[in-house]
Amino acid sequence: MIIARTTADLRAARAAACSTVGFVPTMGALHDGHLSLIRAARGDNDCIVSSIFVNPAQFGPNEDFNAYPRTLEADLAQLEQAGVDIAFIPPVEDIYPTGFQTHVEVEHVSQGLEGARRPGHFRGVATIVAKLFNMTQPTVAYFGQKDAQQVVVLRRMVADLNFPLHIAVIPTARESDGLALSSRNRYLTPQQRADDPQALRALIAQHLTNQSSGEVEYISIAHPQTLRELDAPITHPVLASLTVRFGQTRLLDNILLPAHLNTRDGLTQHLGRV
Ligand code: AMP
Repeated sequence: MIIARTTADLRAARAAACSTVGFVPTMGALHDGHLSLIRAARGDNDCIVSSIFVNPAQFGPNEDFNAYPRTLEADLAQLEQAGVDIAFIPPVEDIYPTGFQTHVEVEHVSQGLEGARRPGHFRGVATIVAKLFNMTQPTVAYFGQKDAQQVVVLRRMVADLNFPLHIAVIPTARESDGLALSSRNRYLTPQQRADDPQALRALIAQHLTNQSSGEVEYISIAHPQTLRELDAPITHPVLASLTVRFGQTRLLDNILLPAHLNTRDGLTQHLGRV
């Protein structure tokens, strides 16, 4: 694997060895989600280029730029092991030299969801990805569905600015209990990580209280065959059942929650959709 630290090195390595290039941009602290993008790229292209760059422009002033995990040596070993041909690890001064003043703004699709909570985030993402596309000149660029809005923003940018490449979107890689892999998962405490049934009951109760005038009688998170109430972290489907009273009327319902919803995040997303 060639390690390119400058754009000139990247371009020289690309020109010498690659006709089609699969490109996987990352911020490092690599995990199996990143590697699933690289695995997808491997089948489709002559060469794989992967970048590691913690992009200051996409972090807000109160976000975790300084605390973002940096594990460069382990990352390079993983890239090599995964079959990456060129690792691009530019220093920040080369990407944003003194006098830098050009940005890419993708207007409407950047505004909701993450964009509403992280002002400037997608301007930073679009700008760095546009620069990386120009430096790498990939045939196909690979992104994770985990960052769904990012995919929409970048597809819009590629169409609007006529980048001559294809964007491929790879499904979210998850832990066995459903948590989406993320470089930031390492900051969860064991307590936060082991979301337990009591947290699910509380979440459902809160959702019902916010969304309806009914009075919750009970909420059960139980084993689907034995119906034993669960109190330890769960890695299998559970039967969530409840009754709610509206005056004299008592309603009973239940749902079999698949394993990937058995976390606070999974269920929060699910409840957001129903
Ligand atoms: P990051 O290093 O977090 O900027 O992520 C680099 C790329 O990996 C982005 O395209 C992400 O969407 C993708 N990615 C991050 N986590 C996952 C995951 N759990 N599954 C699939 N792709 C992911």
